[in-house]
Amino acid sequence: MPQNRSEIILKAQNLEKRFPVLSGLIKKKTGEVRAVDGVSFEARLGEVVGLVGESGCGKSTLARLLLRLIEPSGGQVMFQGRDLLNLSAEEMRKARRDLQIVFQDPSDSINPRLNALEIVSEPLAVHGFSKQDRLDRVLELMELVGLGRDDIFRHPHSFSGGQKQRIVIARALALNPKLVVCDEPVSALDVSIQGQILRLLDDIREKLNLTYIFISHDLAVIKYVSDRVLVMYLGKIMEQAPGEILFKRPAHPYTRALLSAIAVPNPRKKSHRIMLQGDVPNPADMPKGCRFHTRCQYARARCSQEEPGLQDVGDGAKAACFFPLES
Ligand code: SF4
Repeated sequence: MPQNRSEIILKAQNLEKRFPVLSGLIKKKTGEVRAVDGVSFEARLGEVVGLVGESGCGKSTLARLLLRLIEPSGGQVMFQGRDLLNLSAEEMRKARRDLQIVFQDPSDSINPRLNALEIVSEPLAVHGFSKQDRLDRVLELMELVGLGRDDIFRHPHSFSGGQKQRIVIARALALNPKLVVCDEPVSALDVSIQGQILRLLDDIREKLNLTYIFISHDLAVIKYVSDRVLVMYLGKIMEQAPGEILFKRPAHPYTRALLSAIAVPNPRKKSHRIMLQGDVPNPADMPKGCRFHTRCQYARARCSQEEPGLQDVGDGAKAACFFPLES
């Protein structure tokens, strides 16, 4: 299928999610956590946008906001030119045909009492497909994800972790979506299986011209799959860049520290791991200025006073840093 990577399919603008902090017996609101704090980015048709950051940085919350599985506190999500946040429940139900998600642990997202046929055909049943159409489509999907026709009558307990994730992927593809959010889709799998699932997702994306928002805490996985990478820290994007630029010349000190932690495959090559100082600040009590300044080895006086926005650092990359690093 021809790919037109210039078409913007998804555009998030200034997206925010704040959760209240409740304390005491009467659960009085005493503060708020800014889980996603003014995130803007675009995804193009056929593109894989990798989203990386330490756990708790807000990436999974962002994924759920994009699909409106939770309601944002502010901002906009434009999908194929329509603002998802303005859609009625019925319009959103229809829009969900084009927007799907694959979660981390396949065992958590499938009903153990159903067989593969029932699991994969769930979305088809919701959208009123006939029994025969459901069966035909499920057989097609089983082949697409590398499972056999006879597997449709098996139950989850008889599948391996990798096979269960294939079933989850088949279900996500049932309605021919345009965009799939992959939320840590291989982290719950054995390392030996991870590569197979990543290759499968890549093949399917190419065949169907899908767009992926691919979330992972693992930079090696992000490097393998992504055309473009967003690096998140405490609810904000710290750096965004084409994959090959980000991994060659990270401009943000946080990205550079994350990259330094990727295992060096050659034991003779010296690793220059940057140990981040201190703990991740409490998101309910965000530091003033650059939110990374409490851990940044390059911090200067200005960094604790003002918050940097994303600025161009060349080669299509942007970094939220007053003093971006050079290669
Ligand atoms: Fe570090 Fe300052 Fe850049 Fe923040 S703005 S990342 S504290 S150098």
